Amino acid sequence: MIKDLYDLSGKVALVTGGSRGIGRAICLAFAEAGADILLNYARSDKQADDVKRQIEAMGRKCVTVRADVSKFEQAQNLGKAVINHFGKVDILINNAGVNRDRTLRRMTPEQWNEVIQTNLSSLFNCTKAVIEPMIAQNSGVIVSVSSIIGEMGNVGQVNYASTKAGIIGFTKTMARELAGNNIRVNAIAPGFIETDMLGTVPEDIRKQIVAQIPLGRFGTPEEIALAVLFLCSPAASWITGITLRMNGGHYI
Ligand code: NAP
Repeated sequence: MIKDLYDLSGKVALVTGGSRGIGRAICLAFAEAGADILLNYARSDKQADDVKRQIEAMGRKCVTVRADVSKFEQAQNLGKAVINHFGKVDILINNAGVNRDRTLRRMTPEQWNEVIQTNLSSLFNCTKAVIEPMIAQNSGVIVSVSSIIGEMGNVGQVNYASTKAGIIGFTKTMARELAGNNIRVNAIAPGFIETDMLGTVPEDIRKQIVAQIPLGRFGTPEEIALAVLFLCSPAASWITGITLRMNGGHYI
């Protein structure tokens, strides 16, 4: 049956940055598709608990773990937590990310390093945290959230754009390294999505951005979550090493 190809029943997913925005939508979509969730977040205890409650209301299990994925040891603890609670890990979603926008001339080394470590080193940290159990079970799926900015560049986002381009290289290399272990590794590159992150953009700039999007609006977290669900499902069993662009035609 076609619908069985989108079923994640019996699967366990570790989602970083699951408390808000795109990560929250991914957690809810995965739970609806039948998966149990280890939801990681950095600070938003209340939002994380809200998502957990919604997941449990769907009859799925959810464990929330506050941890900073930019820190190697904290990420390793996430890997231990998912095994301790669920006994396995089938899916890793590298979604946590931040922006600290400045032109290069104004950007401090701290702003550069914070974004590199949170958005890119976190992929190294979290993939290392889950990869041994995935190899041992000879299956797994990893999806990382890149961005249209990684392919287009953007004034004031040299730190962010570098991480999002780096995610594409990470994904291609991991797809090659792990294919023999039956682990698929893909990325998704959203355009501009209505989340707290976009809320930091002034209204006049938002209007300018929408004017550049052929489909005439920002995307929603739920639209991105559906595509991530597809990439993690058996329906995508022959897809590895890709970066799926999803941007309303903004970057064609
Ligand atoms: P968001 O609403 O700001 O949410 C960010 C999430 O990441 C939150 O759950 C946050 O946790 C978590 N997080 C941040 N730093 C973390 C850390 N060091 N360790 C663990 N978790 C951390 O952002 P979003 O818009 O949903 O973005 C999610 C991903 O999509 C990011 O990688 C972003 O770059 C990418 N993206 C976004 C857009 C867009 O237009 N929104 C477009 C393309 C790509 P707390 O709640 O605890 O702070």
